[in-house]
Amino acid sequence: MFQSWNSPRAISYRDHYSIPHTWGTAVNVMGMVFGNLGNDSGTGVLFTRNPANGARELYGEYLVNGQGEDVVAGIRTPEPFSALSERHSDAHASLSGFAGHLENHYRDMQDVERGRLYLLQTRNAQRTVQAAVRIAVEMVEEGLISRQEAVNKVVPEEMTQLFVPRFDEEARAQAVGGNAYMAQGFGASPGAATGKAYFDATRAAEAAAQGVSVILIRPETKPDDIHGILAAKGVLTSRGGVTSHAAVVTRGLGVPCVVGCEALQVDVQSRSCSASGHTIKEGEDISIDATSGEVLAGAIPTFQPQLDEVHEAQVLLGWADEYRRLGVFANADTPTDAQRAVSMGAEGIGLCRTEHMFLGPERVEVVQRMLVNAQEAERWAKEHPEEASRRAPLPSQPHGVQTFYGALDHLKGLQIEDFTGILRAMGNHPVIIRLLDAPLHEFLPRYEDLVRSIVTLEAQGAPDGEIEPHRQQLQIVESLREANPMLGHRGCRLGLTFPAIYEMQVEAIITASANLIQEGIMVHPEIMIPLIAHVNELKQLQVNLTGVAESVQAAMATEVDYKYGTMVEVPRACMTADDVAQVAEFFSFGTNDLTQMTYGFSRDDAEGKFLNQYIQDETLPSNPFMTIDPEGVGGLIRIGVQKGRSVRPDLEVGICGEHGGDPASVAFCHREGLDYVSCSPFRVPIARLAAAQAALEGTAGGDTR
Ligand code: PEP
Ligand code: MG
Repeated sequence: MFQSWNSPRAISYRDHYSIPHTWGTAVNVMGMVFGNLGNDSGTGVLFTRNPANGARELYGEYLVNGQGEDVVAGIRTPEPFSALSERHSDAHASLSGFAGHLENHYRDMQDVERGRLYLLQTRNAQRTVQAAVRIAVEMVEEGLISRQEAVNKVVPEEMTQLFVPRFDEEARAQAVGGNAYMAQGFGASPGAATGKAYFDATRAAEAAAQGVSVILIRPETKPDDIHGILAAKGVLTSRGGVTSHAAVVTRGLGVPCVVGCEALQVDVQSRSCSASGHTIKEGEDISIDATSGEVLAGAIPTFQPQLDEVHEAQVLLGWADEYRRLGVFANADTPTDAQRAVSMGAEGIGLCRTEHMFLGPERVEVVQRMLVNAQEAERWAKEHPEEASRRAPLPSQPHGVQTFYGALDHLKGLQIEDFTGILRAMGNHPVIIRLLDAPLHEFLPRYEDLVRSIVTLEAQGAPDGEIEPHRQQLQIVESLREANPMLGHRGCRLGLTFPAIYEMQVEAIITASANLIQEGIMVHPEIMIPLIAHVNELKQLQVNLTGVAESVQAAMATEVDYKYGTMVEVPRACMTADDVAQVAEFFSFGTNDLTQMTYGFSRDDAEGKFLNQYIQDETLPSNPFMTIDPEGVGGLIRIGVQKGRSVRPDLEVGICGEHGGDPASVAFCHREGLDYVSCSPFRVPIARLAAAQAALEGTAGGDTR
């Protein structure tokens, strides 16, 4: 009469309870299947703790005269487990007793006195991450398991789900049942969001300023969409992968984001998008779940996790910190990000991308003034080195040169403010500040947009005076345009060809640091040069930048303890790391670019085009932009670390690409002896737990999963 239940039942049971699909493998909480209670037989499913919130209570269902399949398939409506105590108080008492014993067993099955009660199956139960964390912490408090075991019981990847908004599960199920499903993309930055669709960053920002909850939808995002991203509750793109612009920026900000949703037709001109028979126009409701990658038509309410759940996570992470060897830093570009990073337990900033500080409508305009005049100013600087070293607008300069230095000066003021805020938030912790990396044309209007507006103005018969500024801008944009911008004029190549920009940034870093030191705050800035391929790039920049740092310290009569180091993200830099380490005091592997350049896969395009198929067909074992490829990219990192430390044994080495928040990559970094990983603030808990699990692997505490 009783059948043993096979694994699919766990899935249907989970669905039956509307428990999210994001549950990980749970350990040490048992789901029991029991049956045959004498004459009036029955079957049930019992959890020894509540699988949704982890509370210590028996939780389950019971079906009189039913088979196991009847319970899980939802064909008949079972009674709550408590009803069993009225019908069969003995069986209820027995089961309650077994529950306590069973918690120490995994996939156990017990058969108890025929004719009275059978335990047909017992196994680790599915649970939410909230429940997993609570159960792990409480089991330690109850003396059932050790702290090491508790640290190993939670799936690191799921930790972020504690802190991000989620759909109300009932409302989601109803919406999906009502045919709201539109499309599926890649969840790039976790969390659910619902709001009105906007297809233009400026219109999105304007709507948000009016209090509208906005979902920014674009084919892909660019740096000049930043004001729309900052204002949005969620971001959705039809193109791009998990290291695309939208993915990286939203992950840093903690804004839910779905990318690479190729089935979604985004029509920016008509301000609408469509998929699966739905068309969403500007201002209409749309919902995204970046944990699953799902896009749904209409509004689905979301909720923010409770603080008490976060408290238990903090206890667990505190234990994790006792076991891990790897440092965990955060990628943060603003004082708010830095504070968030500290609250998540980051021990420093591993990457402050300064180009993000150049964005936002008021700043972009200043940056554009600087860029438009940069070439003229650099030509002038070569002929007037003495005056140029002041980096200030002077009446004696030609108009364009004056405009360039005026804009540079303006930006310096803003950067001093930014760096002061970040360094202050991080106090005694290191802050690694990367000088400008992005290709310059990213700060200018798009070439195609400029051409379109000139053609339109000409067709409308606009006066020449009105068209001329657009033509001049087009000329500049054209001169900065590149066929392969990610392999082009960016990173240290900018610093060498437009030295005034890096000099201004170093002046701002040292000024902010000296000001804080004068206030009595210890700071540890580290200046990082991006995209080095040859040691000479680093050497030449060092001469100039050290000079700037020294003159600021002298002028402010304050010594700043700063380091000078580099990103290692070009394969050649790995292969020549012994040369590079002669100059660099630290290495930070930029695993996004290193993966791009090692595989020759465009980080902005590969996932949407072919990489997903590669993964499905098992051409590649996993997405190398998500998990460090241990042989290829990892092999280069290994060479870089060995060569670097061979000439500088105390070389500080970490990674700051998106892999820093991926558990398998964190484990790789632990094994390879790196000093730290750096990831977006929201992934810091993942990295802390993953680093502890990596450290525990192979130890007594590590063998318990
Ligand atoms: C990287 O390349 O890994 C990196 C961190 O830099 P970015 O993503 O800004 O190019
Ligand atoms: Mg990079």
